[in-house]
Amino acid sequence: MPAHLPTATDLARAVQSGDTTPQTLLEEARARIEAARDLNAVVSLNVGADETAAQVAGRVAAGETLPLAGVPLVLKDNLNARGTPTTCGSRILANYVSPYDATVVERLTAAGAVIVGKANMDEFAMGSSTETSACGPTLNPWDRSRVPGGSSGGSAAAVAAGLVPVSLGSDTGGSVRQPAALTGVYGLKPTYGRVSRYGLVAYASSLDQIGPFARSAADLALVMNVIAGHDPRDATSLDAPPAFRTGTPDELRGLRVGVIRESLEGNTAGVEAALDGMLAALRGAGAEVREVSLPHLRHAIATYYLIAMPEASSNLARYDGMVYGERVPAGDVTGSMTATRERGFGDEVKRRILIGTYALSSGYYDAYYSRAMRVRRLIADDFARAFGDFDLLVSPTSPFPAFRLGEKTQDSLSMYAADVDTVAVNLAGLPALSVPAGFETVDGVRLPVGVQFIAPALADERLTALAGALEAMGAVRVEVAPGYAD
Ligand code: GLN
Repeated sequence: MPAHLPTATDLARAVQSGDTTPQTLLEEARARIEAARDLNAVVSLNVGADETAAQVAGRVAAGETLPLAGVPLVLKDNLNARGTPTTCGSRILANYVSPYDATVVERLTAAGAVIVGKANMDEFAMGSSTETSACGPTLNPWDRSRVPGGSSGGSAAAVAAGLVPVSLGSDTGGSVRQPAALTGVYGLKPTYGRVSRYGLVAYASSLDQIGPFARSAADLALVMNVIAGHDPRDATSLDAPPAFRTGTPDELRGLRVGVIRESLEGNTAGVEAALDGMLAALRGAGAEVREVSLPHLRHAIATYYLIAMPEASSNLARYDGMVYGERVPAGDVTGSMTATRERGFGDEVKRRILIGTYALSSGYYDAYYSRAMRVRRLIADDFARAFGDFDLLVSPTSPFPAFRLGEKTQDSLSMYAADVDTVAVNLAGLPALSVPAGFETVDGVRLPVGVQFIAPALADERLTALAGALEAMGAVRVEVAPGYAD
């Protein structure tokens, strides 16, 4: 029997009704994290968690109703939470401790959540496998010889292995959705501007969004209702109050779902089967499912990397050992900055800073960055056109299930190609959800497969409504990875 651990919704209710306490939930979460140390999903524990748990208990006892009362969760290690190390998986920030809370952390804490610790990630969120972390790779709980995806692989593995019911990651080109797919959980990337980026360490600012991982549609809606909404401290924050809920199967009748034709090539048999199964379930519930072409998507990977790398090269200029993190002294200021960056950054981060700087440099700007910005517009226009005819679009989240540790580390281009189904969504600023859609058996091991649904800008709520409907129909069934269920 597949195991079902309690969801965040269950836990908050149990705390609220006095059946358990935030302190007990915190202890249990720590014990599960300890027992699953082999996964390397959680890289540091929050020393302030006991105090927060006690405060939440006091607030509940005083009669407050808190949507996330006592719910333990982990944050990707690029989210600032006061008093926690925020390393971004990098040596250069190894000794950095956050002096403040990100807006999402403030909101989670106000809602009664308890941050247990920080989750592993690719260095500065650059990667699709969590293998570029200075803390070492995170393992996939379904098969520990495989990657959990990335860059938010620690946050995904923590939810997939039942260490916590929900977690947060960040998604610049797929870093929430792809690891969600590869570990068999939900992962939502909201509309750009829907969730404040204040306190998220920037990778590529025009693409970054924070998003949740969860094992139920209700939990996704619960967390989004807490973290979304306008924030004056993020200049790109939108004023769109969250109204997330789960839907029912009858809402699928007449829903127009467009299957992205460009995503149908190059998938494994298991990914094809999972997508077909999902489309059959939608048709069975009365949805109108048809193919639609978005011709500029074939340029999405090149466009994404020509925008993400220049933005990263600018954002990462601040890590020179003068203000943040570790400083390597070496004679004069320039020597010290050079030595700090040489020692502090890993190879993939250096590669991206070099390519990004080159693409922005005088004489190349028009050929690369500026042209990429124009293609970005064409991609956004393709989506806008498709949403004239469809309520939602669908594609695989990843063309293949979890790959082996080390399989793509020597070949950057094959690692970049893992993002083929996800990056266009960030370029267009749209919301998208990866849902667990089945399994593909590879070498005798069941590996999760995800399907991605994309909604028009600001229609994020459609995605949790859809997830609720799919769960009610049995078209989505989330399982905890075997061996981690009890
Ligand atoms: N894999 C993509 C990259 O390396 C996406 C990463 C992300 O979304 N943070 O840029």
